[in-house]
This record gives sequence, C-alpha cells and structure tokens, in this order.
Amino acid sequence: MGVKVAKFGGSSVADAIQMTKVRDIIMSDPERRYIVVSAPGKRFAEDSKLTDLLYLCKTHIEHNVPFHQVFQVIWDRFKIMIMNLGLDLDIDPYFIEIRENLMNGASNDYIASRGEYLSAVLAANFFGFDFVDPKDCIFFDANGKFMPEETNEALTKELAKHERAVLPGFYGAKPDGSIKTFSRGGSDITGALVARAVDAEVYENWTDVSGFLMADPRIVENAKPISRVTYKELRELSYMGASVLHDEAIFPVKGANIPINIRNTNQPEHPGTVIVGEDSSEGTDEIITGISGRKGFTVIAIYKDNMNSEVGYVKRLLSVLENYNISFEHLPSGIDTVSVVISSQRLEGILGDLLEDIQKKMSPDTLEVHSNLALIATVGHGMIKRQGVSATLFTALYQAGVNIRMIDQGSSEMNIIVGVEEADFETAIKAIYKAFVEEKTLTK
Ligand code: ASP
Repeated sequence: MGVKVAKFGGSSVADAIQMTKVRDIIMSDPERRYIVVSAPGKRFAEDSKLTDLLYLCKTHIEHNVPFHQVFQVIWDRFKIMIMNLGLDLDIDPYFIEIRENLMNGASNDYIASRGEYLSAVLAANFFGFDFVDPKDCIFFDANGKFMPEETNEALTKELAKHERAVLPGFYGAKPDGSIKTFSRGGSDITGALVARAVDAEVYENWTDVSGFLMADPRIVENAKPISRVTYKELRELSYMGASVLHDEAIFPVKGANIPINIRNTNQPEHPGTVIVGEDSSEGTDEIITGISGRKGFTVIAIYKDNMNSEVGYVKRLLSVLENYNISFEHLPSGIDTVSVVISSQRLEGILGDLLEDIQKKMSPDTLEVHSNLALIATVGHGMIKRQGVSATLFTALYQAGVNIRMIDQGSSEMNIIVGVEEADFETAIKAIYKAFVEEKTLTK
C-alpha cells in the first residue's frame, strides 16, 4: 500500500463543518496516513485567522495592554468546535499552559505556532490518529536556519513509529528546544517535508480552490483549470501572479520526485492540479499551460551609439543598481540599447538619484523612463520547439489593439514575457487566452 500525505490549509480546518469534510476525505482513502494541519483560518470574509489573533495577543503583551479578551476569543473558538464535533477532549489544560507561557515572556514564534499545535491536537483526537509534535523532528540551527537533512532523518524515524498521525504545520525547534516557525503560510512546507520523509506517492495540498486556473478568473471568465503543471512552469506562473502554494514547499518534494496535488476540501471530487517534474503537456491538447502577470513595473531604457563594441558597459549599469541594492526583473537589450525592468515599488523615493548616477557613470546618448508597465508571462512546456507560438501571441495582441513595449523569451523557450501598458493588462490577457485556449488558433 502506498502512502499519501495530506495537508489541510486554514479554511479547511476553520470550524466543525470543515473539519468534518476533512475527516471524510481522510477516511475515504486508507493511504492518507500522515496529515498536516494549519491553524483554523477564516470562516467568512470578515473573520480573523487564528494565527493573526495569536500574534495580536503577543502585541498586546508587548504594549502592556491586557490580552485576555483576544485570548478568550481563540479559546472559545476551540471549545465551540470541540462541542460541535462531540469530542471527548478537555482543551482547557492546553490553554492554561499557553496563557502561563505567554505571561512569562514566551517568544513570538512560540505563540504564533500554537494555532497549528491546538488544531492538530483536536484533529488527532477527532480522526483517532496519533499526534506528533514537530518540535521533536523538524530542526532549525541556533541562528534559525532550517536544517533539511537532520529534519528528514528525524522525521523518517519518528513517523515510522506511527501507522497514522497528525502533525501541526508551520514550526519546528532550535537546538535549545525553543520553537521556530517558517515564514507565513509555512504549513505547506511542513507537508512537503513529511511527504519526503515517508517517501509518499503524492503530497496532497488541500485548500479552498480546485487547483490552478489557466488565467486569473477575475480577468478571464470561466478560465479552464490546469490539470498538470511542472515545478518549473509553476515557478514562472506564481512569480508573476497569485500563488496557492508557499514557494519553498516545492523544493523538498521536487528533489524526491513526489508529485503535489492541489485539491479543494469543498469539492473533493474535483481532481485539482498535479504538479510534476516532467513534461506537463502530455495528454492535453493545450499548447500553453497558463498565463499570468503583474502590474507595477518601470523600464529604464538606455541608448548609446556603438554600445555593442564597448566592453563592460552593461556591467556599469548593473553596478549602479547594485549600489542601490536593487534587483531587476528583466534586462532586454539591442545592439545599441539596453533596458532594465524594475518593480516600481523598489524605485520609490530613489528614482531621481538612480538616474543621476546612471547619467554620470554611463554617459548615455539618451536615457528614458517608462512607468506603468505590466508584465504578462505566457508559460508552457508545449511551446518548446513549436513554431508559430510567438506569431499567435503577437497577432492576438495586435488584433486587440495592444501595443507591446517589451518582449523577453527565456532560452528554455518555456515562456514568453511581454510588457504592455498597465491600462492594456486585462485586454492583453483576455486576447492571449482567447487565441490559445478558446479559439485554438494554433493546434498541437
Ligand atoms: N498559520 C500560519 C499562517 O497563517 C501558517 C499556515 O497557515 O500555513 O501563516
């Protein structure tokens, strides 16, 4: 029998109704033996995530403001959940201990981690699974740097002792035993670490959407779901747009070649999106895998006669950027031109000085700045060595009346990035989607 690791996000464990859906999902497949849970998330749009309430308790303490009211809200949420699920679990001693620790100066990481801890205690009781505390098997060094190999060894050893277990996501411990959390959304990472440790056949990541869509549904109505995507494609797509999965959750499973399956707790019959290592275009008739994009970029364009024969010219530009600690997104260049595309936010308050420095160090013939640029990435393995992809893309944009301000294609041929005016962003995405997906102007 294979092993599946299932991680459930905050909205999946937000209340008794959601927890019951989770139990049904787990019980419907005996291979789902290791479960990772987040802290209870929002039950409705205006609700608070439990982790945020826990951070709030800590802030109250730091400012010498009574925290008991906020703490009670958290306590009550668990009590109601336990009551509604009809569990035989006395949660009070756990809360009394946490309150005690809080009053005695417990760290931010400790308090933030308690949402996951309590969520897993409750879930283990409800499912009849063992509870495994990651403080004993997920390790950080004294400086707070995550230790992957030590963790893998300890987790593998610990989980071998348990036929079925629930683990809290989001945290581990330093050598002195103090709690250390991953960055926000880090339960995804815990799930990936557990999947690697038990050599799972799949890492299921259960959330409140049925996987990834080919385009943002706020822009493209009824955007099609992506059934398979490679880790690399996902990196390109999520770098540009909204992300369902924590970036760092990919690495542990990618190395072990374990697929990640994004699933929806509220629609468990939907197969979701599978993230795999190899070609994702197999079995589909799609040339592209997805389209994503972001607004808020600025281009600094430099023109100089004979630039191509001047050794080290671009290096000077990069060293100016380095002095300002600015990273760039793209560096399109021509024979006598070079441009840098930078997030506009990074340039706030420093653009004037930066331009002055570029002027001084590079003496360009012209130096131009264009703000309000949006970047759109059209991504897909199916594009590799496929003729007509750029022609289709550019024709679609031309027909939609969109002016292309920048073009960049990675040498992997897996994506084409175009820069357009922010005002054309939505029109451009719709046009690309229409050409490749709805009208299938280009077929495989
Ligand atoms: N509860 C933590 C957060 O809100 C971690 C997680 O949910 O993955 O960031």
